[in-house]
Amino acid sequence: MSNIELDSHTPKGKLEDRWTQHKFNLKIVSPANRKKYTVIVVGTGLAGAAAAASMGEMGFNVKTFCFQDSPRRAHSIAAQGGINAAKNYQNDGDSVWRLFYDTIKGGDYRARESNVFRLAELSSNIIDQAVAQGVPFAREYSGYLANRSFGGAQVSRTFYARGQTGQQLLLGAYQAMSKQISEGTIKHTSRCEMQDMIMVDGKAKGIVSRDLVTGKLETHMADCVVLCSGGYGNVFYLSTNAKGSNASAAWRAHKHGALFANPCFTQIHPTCIPQHGELQSKLTLMSESLRNDGRIWAPKNKQDCDTAPEDIAEQDRDYFLERMYPAFGNLVPRDVASRAVKLICDEGRGVGHAIDGKKLGVYLDFAKAIAVLGLEAIREKYGNLFEMYQHITDEDPYSSPMRIYPAVHYTMGGLWVDYNLMTSIDGLFAGGEANFSDHGANRLGASALMQGLADGYFVLPTTISNYLAHQQPLDLDKHYPEAEQALKRCEEKIQALMNAPEPQKTPDEFHRKLGQIIWNACGMARERGILEQAIIDIQQLRAQFWQQVKITGSDQTLNQTLERAGRIADFFELAELMCVDALTREESCGCHAREEHITKEGEAQRHDDEYSFVSAWQYSGNVSEPVLHKEELHFEFVRPTTRNYK
Ligand SMILES: Cc1cc2nc3c(=O)[nH]c(=O)nc-3n(C[C@H](O)[C@H](O)[C@H](O)COP(=O)(O)OP(=O)(O)OC[C@H]3O[C@@H](n4cnc5c(N)ncnc54)[C@H](O)[C@@H]3O)c2cc1C
Repeated sequence: MSNIELDSHTPKGKLEDRWTQHKFNLKIVSPANRKKYTVIVVGTGLAGAAAAASMGEMGFNVKTFCFQDSPRRAHSIAAQGGINAAKNYQNDGDSVWRLFYDTIKGGDYRARESNVFRLAELSSNIIDQAVAQGVPFAREYSGYLANRSFGGAQVSRTFYARGQTGQQLLLGAYQAMSKQISEGTIKHTSRCEMQDMIMVDGKAKGIVSRDLVTGKLETHMADCVVLCSGGYGNVFYLSTNAKGSNASAAWRAHKHGALFANPCFTQIHPTCIPQHGELQSKLTLMSESLRNDGRIWAPKNKQDCDTAPEDIAEQDRDYFLERMYPAFGNLVPRDVASRAVKLICDEGRGVGHAIDGKKLGVYLDFAKAIAVLGLEAIREKYGNLFEMYQHITDEDPYSSPMRIYPAVHYTMGGLWVDYNLMTSIDGLFAGGEANFSDHGANRLGASALMQGLADGYFVLPTTISNYLAHQQPLDLDKHYPEAEQALKRCEEKIQALMNAPEPQKTPDEFHRKLGQIIWNACGMARERGILEQAIIDIQQLRAQFWQQVKITGSDQTLNQTLERAGRIADFFELAELMCVDALTREESCGCHAREEHITKEGEAQRHDDEYSFVSAWQYSGNVSEPVLHKEELHFEFVRPTTRNYK
């Protein structure tokens, strides 16, 4: 285990000048020399496609990989609601400083000020970039770009393309990437999964990939590696993430020395379609944008929980978010809304199907908005979301309220990165949801697309150029024994999965059980005893997994069971670290609600004196003995206070 020096390389000086000054201080590779350098980008969702297209445009050799059959199928296409930017088109008082403040406060003061300010500053450039690419953002009648409101903000700064913002933005980034593919600066490989890192002299110098159709393992060398491989919400089995989203690329880098930051910071989104049955394998988000017009309520009286919502009189309805948080009402941040919904259901006032004897649902009601704005206006704004709800539930949300319940949605934790988005491994960068930066303990709605694209279009191309300017180009024709060793490790791991001693159960059976353990222990509420037990349960189930996992078919052909097994093996290790992290953080902050640290009013109780730091975990060689490093957070421009949305 090597010693790690945790330096965020955060610039000093006036906050608003830091990024500009930093960029000026960074070195640039001369255009004539750029083609001598090769950059590997793993993942071509919004963050990866944006980074690859930008670096290709600059003239670097870029090699990109994704496991889907096209970059256009990355999980980013699922993003419905929108992307934040401090344009102040509404003239409602928005500014870079306000977006910065809302994001720091929304994250419950567990993010770096310098990074968040840079994000707010770059937000406007992203919109300009996307508009130039032809992304069809919604517009006002006058032609101006339209905005709507998202949680945790009192201004309207969310740009959107109906309920398909991620898809439209990804088409823009993919187009930019395709241009570079045709110009020969990007070489892209789909249906290919990174299996491991290749380290040369302690630096990230390549990856081992597996062709998912033929099973062939290959090595690829480069001057640096960028992981934009997305988030790990699927560790919970049930989540709003695409089923393929996984932690493997990040986790395998972690095992080579990349610190994993704040692994227990997981966002639970308040408005998802409730779970319907025990064997369900996926949950569906209903976009936060719906909270602009939808009102959340539950019956005041338990005896009304089985009554049809239309038959419950107005005075018997509890619009609990409006009651508890009058200043922000239905637009409180996600962690606050999710906890409130849980509280109501724990009180026995939930509605809908019972899971394990408990009704887990509350209403999201558009009756008032339809009465005031008219059915057509609501259809125009949210039509495709309403249709999706109706397809899944067979209920008409125009005539009866939707039912919603919180579900796992996003992971704020991820690979620790410094201000340059470099991990603790020299030459390994991470962008988008794969890194931990910018959102602290809770991400505000519409800020993930903003961060992924800020990282991809603007930050990574600049900081990677600087990194490469300090390196001699790698001799790609040389033989690297490290590459051979990495390939051999991957072969052995695949064989261990294919040939478990007593094959009995599918990978999914293990995953479902793991999901239950981690959701109960490290979901919306966390408690010492339950976390301690979960760690033991995870260790036991993991041992059983390696003994009993049953993978049919061959490793030389398309085999999705094998793909899943590899990802689940990593989830088992990450899940344990999440519980250890949650156990170590003896406070509540943002999404992290430790039952022992909740105020009388049910709000998160932070302990800034002891826990104002980023937890950055190092792999010690033994998954069950991670080493904690702390990056202290310093607040020079915003004073951490108790979050108040009342
Ligand atoms: C339903 C839903 C709705 C959302 N709506 C919004 C919204 O309205 N606004 C907002 O800001 N955010 C939203 N989010 C969050 C946001 O969509 C994501 O955080 C963001 O798109 C992640 O982008 P990314 O580029 O980091 O990763 P992804 O889009 O997940 O891309 C990951 C890439 O990595 C590749 N990959 C992964 N592992 C490997 C491997 N081992 N080898 C090779 N390739 C690999 C994949 O193939 C893929 O190309 C939403 C999330 C969900 C689940």
